[in-house]
Amino acid sequence: MSVKRFGVSLPREVAEALDKMAHDLGVTRSEIVTHALQEYIQEKTAHHNSTHQCIGVVLALSDSGVDLSDLLHRDVVLTYSHMHLEQTCLTVAVVRGDGSQIARYVLEISRKSHTVRYVPLY
Ligand SMILES: [Zn+2]
Ligand SMILES: [Zn+2]
Repeated sequence: MSVKRFGVSLPREVAEALDKMAHDLGVTRSEIVTHALQEYIQEKTAHHNSTHQCIGVVLALSDSGVDLSDLLHRDVVLTYSHMHLEQTCLTVAVVRGDGSQIARYVLEISRKSHTVRYVPLY
């Protein structure tokens, strides 16, 4: 693989976290930055393209009293699972839709959850 070198400026905390991670994992900073950027670029371009039919997983952590059922019976949801972890509920929904549909869905589920992650798969 041919490489290109360039300088970037990072906030001190980010640079220190990068150095620590590189040291702990026994890899170079360049390997971590390459991997992180590949993930970022893939997510921001391919999966946010509104003509692209994306399939991915929404992970949502919410309080046990919160009812997400109206969000789980949508066209965008292919299947889901709901688990109880003490006072917290973990909902895992497999979703399919174009980028903007999924972005809206993730926003809606975020309003009822502490933490939401969308992991695009395809
Ligand atoms: Zn996708
Ligand atoms: Zn629950």
